[in-house]
Amino acid sequence: MIADSVGKIRERIDLACRRAGRDPSEVRLLAVSKTFPAESVREVVSSGICDIGENYVQELRVKREQLADDRIRWHFIGHLQTNKVKYVADWVHLIHAVDSARLAAEIDKHAARAGRKIDLLVEVNSTGEESKYGVPPGETEALVKELARFDNIRVCGLMTMSLFDPDPEVSRPVYRGLRQIRDNLAGLRQENLKLKHLSMGMTGDFEVAIEEGATIVRIGTALFGKRQRR
Ligand SMILES: *Cc1c(COP(=O)(O)O)cnc(C)c1O
Repeated sequence: MIADSVGKIRERIDLACRRAGRDPSEVRLLAVSKTFPAESVREVVSSGICDIGENYVQELRVKREQLADDRIRWHFIGHLQTNKVKYVADWVHLIHAVDSARLAAEIDKHAARAGRKIDLLVEVNSTGEESKYGVPPGETEALVKELARFDNIRVCGLMTMSLFDPDPEVSRPVYRGLRQIRDNLAGLRQENLKLKHLSMGMTGDFEVAIEEGATIVRIGTALFGKRQRR
């Protein structure tokens, strides 16, 4: 069943790319497995998806140990507390939601200890909702510049969450805005600063996100089904 869902989503990604004149290889499908068991992750991996996202550190660590599969690239997509960085620093593939220099400093420190560079995205609070994390759009440039000072992280792009609305068109201006912020910062270039990724789009609006330039879409429900409440 998960294999069927993967096929259908891939088709929809291809169609959205075609509409937007983009190459489907530019869009990565990130499977968001939160609340689902390791067995479900195994199924998506068998279907060829190796990018897996979780938003709780503990859940991520447990599944990683249960699966012990080196093909998997583990993404952290939730709000990362500074005191939890140490648990993921050795192996995390991409941290999606960095919104402060303080968190980046902690990631930098643990990356140095681990002898690696850690890739991250800056989360932008595009909708201005107080319940959301992320840096306000107008402060993104200043934060990105600040993060570029750290030697052991690489700032690879921006991430955002849209409004929860059944109409995907509501997300379009949000995603277009994120792309504009990125394009405005494209001139900033240094070794650890290459804003190539836009992590945006979920089950309800990933096609709109692709049309607006997403390079990573984060999909849970359309792959695994409805989540039980925690
Ligand atoms: C849960 C989650 C998703 C996936 O949401 P779906 O609507 O189930 O596809 C994407 N991004 C983040 C940050 C999430 O927490």
